[in-house]
Amino acid sequence: MDDNLIVCSECGSVNRVPKARRIADAKCGSCGARIFSGHPRDVGGATFDRHVTRNTLPVLVDVWAPWCGPCRTMAPAYAAAALELEPRVVLTKLNSDDEPAISTRLGIRGIPTMILFHGGKEVARTSGAMSTGQIVRWVRDHLPSVAA
Ligand code: ZN
Repeated sequence: MDDNLIVCSECGSVNRVPKARRIADAKCGSCGARIFSGHPRDVGGATFDRHVTRNTLPVLVDVWAPWCGPCRTMAPAYAAAALELEPRVVLTKLNSDDEPAISTRLGIRGIPTMILFHGGKEVARTSGAMSTGQIVRWVRDHLPSVAA
């Protein structure tokens, strides 16, 4: 496999991007948007499954809710982590109030919870608000390939 499959943050199309190419600048073949915007993507319903199962890159999910103080505290740290981790990892946000079925399926007991997926499988999860540095370190600890 010499290509990465990456789900567009705007339209959800699956793009085939050669690994040799600078994927940070890659544009979506369907809608023309940059595949990586540098911001965490809101996912829910079908887009959650599509991101987790179709991306060949690791996918980080921040499960949060608007009423959750620690989640709001962590939001800017998570956004800053996207700038450091993309395009080696895809950062997404799942609003557990809007997506109770997915939260139940994931077995979420408290928020914020971060879950790291790779190849559609859960690699690691952690709960509680974290700083940007802690988020980046936690991801790199569980994905040695991202440490570069
Ligand atoms: Zn697109």
